[in-house]
Amino acid sequence: MKKYKDLSPSPRTIMTPGPVEVDPRVLRAMSYPILGQFDPEFTGLMNETMGMLRELFQTENEWAFPIDGTSRSGLEAVLTSVIEPGMKVLIPIYGRFGHLLAEISERCGADIVTLEQEWGKVFDPEEVIGAIKREQPAVVAMVHGETSTGRIQPLAEIGRACRELDVLFVVDAVATIGGVPVETDNWCIDAVIGGTQKCLSVPSGMAPITYNSRIEQHIMQRKRIERGLRDPGEPLLELGRTIRSNYFDLSQLQDYWSAARLNHHTEATSMLYALREGLRILLEEGLEARFARHLLHERALASGIEGMGLELYGDPACKLPVVTCVAIPDGVDGEAVRAMLLEQFSIEIASSFGVLKGKIWRIGTMGYSCRKQNVLQVLGALEAVLTYCGSSVNKGAAVQAALVVYREAEAT
Ligand SMILES: *Cc1c(COP(=O)(O)O)cnc(C)c1O
Repeated sequence: MKKYKDLSPSPRTIMTPGPVEVDPRVLRAMSYPILGQFDPEFTGLMNETMGMLRELFQTENEWAFPIDGTSRSGLEAVLTSVIEPGMKVLIPIYGRFGHLLAEISERCGADIVTLEQEWGKVFDPEEVIGAIKREQPAVVAMVHGETSTGRIQPLAEIGRACRELDVLFVVDAVATIGGVPVETDNWCIDAVIGGTQKCLSVPSGMAPITYNSRIEQHIMQRKRIERGLRDPGEPLLELGRTIRSNYFDLSQLQDYWSAARLNHHTEATSMLYALREGLRILLEEGLEARFARHLLHERALASGIEGMGLELYGDPACKLPVVTCVAIPDGVDGEAVRAMLLEQFSIEIASSFGVLKGKIWRIGTMGYSCRKQNVLQVLGALEAVLTYCGSSVNKGAAVQAALVVYREAEAT
């Protein structure tokens, strides 16, 4: 008898804010043979991927490449390379991932200033701009789509203010990239970090990033000091200012991704195939069509949830289209419902964090998971489970409400 059985993961309908279902084309791409990291065929694929990432990030930036690691590796690469000890970093926080930015910045030795907004809401851009003028930070870091609360922060005005005041603006767009517009250049964002396992529908394990010449110049200045390449009269090498990570040193990473191809790590071949295929699928669909698709399925899902008699959580004016947060009805055990959805229907939805744990479910409509079949299934199954648990829902209304949205969309 074999000690360990053959791998055979159950087919799941994944309606969480990540990881989500992966497009079969991406899974096939991952099964191709390995190429050497300096094989011209492979470096050609690396260059193509950079070009596709520029389209995804809507940028003319020279630098757009993936960091090998999950999305937070992208956050660490940017923050570690940008933040020098003692640098003032302003972090407006409106959910869990804002706290992550603060934690990473603190580890980089930043002098952090945080602003906190009640969960379920976002910031009035004027409030953030006021804080930037008051605090005069060197860097502002904030989250675009906060998956923990299902909210989206408008960034254009904050970006413009940062540019005018010569502040570097770093944005976590892990949850939004590929599902919601992220206009890097138009919104004056200096560095953006994306994710793969959310709206791109590629497995977790890479973090596409982009950054502009303002960031590059700042990093090069740090490196110049680190290497002791100082001008006459300039202070000696200040060890405290060096980039403390080798793996996340963007100056070394960009030398690897540039024509110089200076060896750094060994690029994750199969993940690069996956990312390239995921981006190819996205560009074939087209950014505008893809954003419209995410909005349609959000509308169908939200109509179904409300049709069932459940309440959506959070300020509707800043709802993140790709995550729908649902208030767990009084007397219902949210975790028991999630367990039954998984066991009986093979459907996964998410709980939440911190103060929202046990209070809301989060239903993702991201990438390949964002489709009619999945939305109708999750609505039907959730109604059935709630009914089974004795909760009073409007029976039959959820799927009907979603069908109305779909039929209307098909008619136009
Ligand atoms: C998922 C997520 C992350 C973290 O991603 P990992 O891939 O788990 O490291 C960071 N920020 C936001 C907004 C996210 O939604």
